[in-house]
Amino acid sequence: MRKKRLTGWVCGKGFDVKGSFQYHPRETTGQEGFRWRSFFCLLVFLLLFFPDDARCQRRTHEIFFEGTDYELNVYRIYGERPGKTLLLIGGIQGDEPGGFLSADPYADICLSKGNLIVVPRANFHSIVLRQRIVNQDMNRQFDEEARHTYETKVVSILKRLIQESDCLLNLHDGSGFYSDTWENQDRNPLRYGQSLIADAEVHMNPATGEEIRLGEMARAVAARINSQIENSEHHFRFNNHRSREAESPHKEQRKSATYYALFTCGVPAFGIETSKSLPLELKVRHHNLAINAFMDRLGIVQETPGVNLDPPELDYLVIAVNEELPVVVGNQQTLYVQPGDTIMISHIEANYERGLTADLIGFGTISDVRKKFSIQRETQIVVRKDYYPCGKVTISLRSEPPRVLQTKGRTDSEPPRDQKPAVKTFRIQINGKEKVCRNNERVTLVKGDLFEIVDVTAENGDPSVWVVNFKGFVGDRRSNDGEDRGFVINTAKDLLSRYSIDKQGRSYPVVVTYQNAEVGKLFVDLKEPRN
Ligand SMILES: [Zn+2]
Repeated sequence: MRKKRLTGWVCGKGFDVKGSFQYHPRETTGQEGFRWRSFFCLLVFLLLFFPDDARCQRRTHEIFFEGTDYELNVYRIYGERPGKTLLLIGGIQGDEPGGFLSADPYADICLSKGNLIVVPRANFHSIVLRQRIVNQDMNRQFDEEARHTYETKVVSILKRLIQESDCLLNLHDGSGFYSDTWENQDRNPLRYGQSLIADAEVHMNPATGEEIRLGEMARAVAARINSQIENSEHHFRFNNHRSREAESPHKEQRKSATYYALFTCGVPAFGIETSKSLPLELKVRHHNLAINAFMDRLGIVQETPGVNLDPPELDYLVIAVNEELPVVVGNQQTLYVQPGDTIMISHIEANYERGLTADLIGFGTISDVRKKFSIQRETQIVVRKDYYPCGKVTISLRSEPPRVLQTKGRTDSEPPRDQKPAVKTFRIQINGKEKVCRNNERVTLVKGDLFEIVDVTAENGDPSVWVVNFKGFVGDRRSNDGEDRGFVINTAKDLLSRYSIDKQGRSYPVVVTYQNAEVGKLFVDLKEPRN
């Protein structure tokens, strides 16, 4: 799993303080300067004292199984004010484009209240193949704990996201039109299209005693959606699968995401089905209506047009030398040319699309994109987003190629593939609170604390194929493959002291291996509770 760019500095979830990114610290004076300084102190404070995952931020993007055919992208958007969290899952079956095409743009919205977790393409492999199933139906794997196929690996991550949420919408396109009475072949109780599906009318969550009124919620949302759909043939209806009941015609749903959410996690969950018979544009529109109505109901408020003050950053320039094929030159890299060569910048790739200029210093004007220049001396290209310099490329002279030289200090490039796999960090939870530890670090717990290894991140290699083993803990008793990510361990009861380092149960190793070779380690020390 890789955490991509963490963007935004305006505080949201759980914090009272507010800061905003300023492009021009040096221009500020007097009171403004003071404000800048105090913001800067706050920023340093946040960077120093909050580990990666707890750092104040408005959106995150995580990539799991990166570079595989089933890469999984998870977007979290935090509202400025705290509130409920809605999870949107699209594309769990690849031949239902209404769902994933609708979910996709929600990854980019801003929220003023509440939070969204967006998984636009849960089953990317099946989407590219445009088929429902690759190895097995991903939406029938939520009863399993094992991780045998890529589908079950993805499902284990979706389960964790469900546990973080207050409501789940699983976005589908279904056959025909659902109706609670038989009207015809295409419109009857066994069809799915244009319905909001739940697994029960009401469910009492035994953990909290709370009554989850799914039917009431779905009917209210359907009424809201239908007021915006003129053609009554396309109106949505509540479709109660009664999946847990003995005479349910939909017992296969007991292995679905919504069933897991409701009955295992106590999270209200709905399948949103648009009809496969409708044109794609209508499917997407109707999904949007449903998502918006659920957001409204949960008090999650979208911010339009939204505030985006992420620090601008150049990714790369595309530059043609003479009339040759253009080359890609990354931020902070050097392009070597021979005296008299002409160069032309044809494209700027940055985390913004608008407001970008590239200025070849000493040539042309402040905006030199798509202009040809003959280079006689060393110079630089300064890239700006509006007035903010966000990247730099050096042009140096040399009599021979190679053209592009990678400079030191570029930290975000991919490590060479032949480097040895190694753990970078452990993402753990202690009594439900998330913490990030570096490789080989020690963590001290009080016996009885609940401990979970959420995941590990890699310095090199793919953590999804590693085995993370808490020595002395047997996670899955049916198949002890040693994989312990995702299990909540009671440190008073679940550990066998003979596997501890001291054999007394005071210190246990967590060992990460790849093909039986150790790639990382974490030490867990247990203190006796004080009475
Ligand atoms: Zn489906």
